[in-house]
Amino acid sequence: MYDQTVKCEACGNNIDVNVKDSICTSQVSKRERGMGNEICHIVEIDHLVCPYCGAELEITGQFIEYPEGCCETTNLLSRVK
Ligand SMILES: [Zn+2]
Repeated sequence: MYDQTVKCEACGNNIDVNVKDSICTSQVSKRERGMGNEICHIVEIDHLVCPYCGAELEITGQFIEYPEGCCETTNLLSRVK
């Protein structure tokens, strides 16, 4: 579930990123959804070079883990430095 894609702001290609080591905060949601906890992971990557256009990017965003061990939704944004 840590394998995510993020769209390069410079060229629009989707870049594969592994966010496992880039999670800065994880919060358990208060929402009760019947299949255990929903966890919101906040992701920050300081420096990522786009393999397509070479732009230097920083990545911020979040993804929702639900149920445990599965990635439900991802919302990662890139910004050209
Ligand atoms: Zn790019």
